[in-house]
Amino acid sequence: MAAVQEPSFRQSVDLMFNRAVGLMDLPPGLEQKIRVCNATYTVRFGVRLRGEIQTFTGYRSVHSEHMEPVKGGIRYAIGVNQDEVEALAALMTYKCALVETPFGGSKGGLCIDPRQYEEHELELITRRFAYELAKRDLINPSQNVPAPDMGTGEREMAWIADQFARMNTTDINAKACVTGKPLNAGGISGRVEATGRGVQYALREFFRNPEDVKAAGMEGKLDGKRIVVQGLGNVGFHAAKFLASEDGAKITGIIERDGALVDDRGLDVEAVHRWIVNHGGVKDYADATYVEDGAKVLEQDCDILIPAALEGVINLTNANNIKAPLIIEAANGPVTAGADEILRKKGTVIIPDMYANAGGVTVSYFEWVKNLSHIRFGRMQRRQEEARHQLVVDELERLSDHLGDAWSMKPDFKQRYLRGADELELVRSGLDDTMRIAYQSMREVWHGRDDVTDLRVAAYIVAIDRVAKSYRAKGL
Ligand code: GLU
Repeated sequence: MAAVQEPSFRQSVDLMFNRAVGLMDLPPGLEQKIRVCNATYTVRFGVRLRGEIQTFTGYRSVHSEHMEPVKGGIRYAIGVNQDEVEALAALMTYKCALVETPFGGSKGGLCIDPRQYEEHELELITRRFAYELAKRDLINPSQNVPAPDMGTGEREMAWIADQFARMNTTDINAKACVTGKPLNAGGISGRVEATGRGVQYALREFFRNPEDVKAAGMEGKLDGKRIVVQGLGNVGFHAAKFLASEDGAKITGIIERDGALVDDRGLDVEAVHRWIVNHGGVKDYADATYVEDGAKVLEQDCDILIPAALEGVINLTNANNIKAPLIIEAANGPVTAGADEILRKKGTVIIPDMYANAGGVTVSYFEWVKNLSHIRFGRMQRRQEEARHQLVVDELERLSDHLGDAWSMKPDFKQRYLRGADELELVRSGLDDTMRIAYQSMREVWHGRDDVTDLRVAAYIVAIDRVAKSYRAKGL
């Protein structure tokens, strides 16, 4: 953490918001309405564990209800507090607006170190927390739909969904009360890796625009780029894995809680991940150099830095030393407002959190729609699509017979073309489309206005403008 006093996370988000609205023409009242967090509910509840009652503190913050339900994850971490939950809820509002998922912004958190509890204890705690939120409609398919965040995953979402269903036995849409559920409990294919995939699609889109790559002082494609990732949790792991295995990037540094691993030749992401799962950290991993002071690796020479862990990790104490010309914020709020200013002056290009990590909520949206429509994506069309493709293939085969040696289909064409898209492919296609369109909407503002010099402000302008339009449409 910064030794110098910096604004809190929420104030940092407000400062960034203010920088954007300063360039917009909104009535001050509306500006204020959008900025403020509508409500934060704090709950303290007791759970009998290990022979005694333990009290837990949880939050659910609703930032903006210009669209409902409101959406956002539930975080389990010891440092959870109201300021943090409100900052994250605000980011959800802007994130949803930017990627056009029809939700307002919300976020929840429970002050707990989940590693200190057994699975059955976590279940008791989660069910009790879910009960407290559900009875106030802070979990509800049409009002407020949580999802995983740091410290939570499919397992917790399944407990929450089940708890809600028990409390609402006749609600046919009960499953849509939470997203990020396991596939066999109403989830959707591709949700687990969605945020990491989104980071990959965001970078691909960035590198499709040579002008933008040049703005970061780089050239070429993703292939061969050196990447440092901070945090090999769900988001960091998937992003690093896909970028290395599918785009030819080299993961030259991985920073974890207990230190970092570096290797200029590129680390084996899956092997490092397995090591972390089995040993609780990166120390003693054999095939790389271990650096005890992991934070120093943030300052290592590389092409792309992916902070995928906590907020505030790039702050006034280290911003000046960051060498990466491109930062993509896979975590929420990893760069403080002060650090953002320093980096902007240095010419670092930052792909902002509200865009970069929006893959999670985008696929959550697909899951929610799937739950409400009670049918898996692709179930109706897939075979019909295959039948129509078969017609084309039959005709091509007829042509190839007719032409003899002069022409034939490529060996794998038939197999690739015939297959209709399954749910996973449709999810990926929807996510890719979302990430491309949202990037272009930010980019238009970034390059289209002389007073906008960075992607973050561009993202805020696009998002705030959409939220403002919703409020206006409501007559506010
Ligand atoms: N917790 C994730 C985020 O910060 C996902 C939210 C969601 O899927 O609703 O974006």
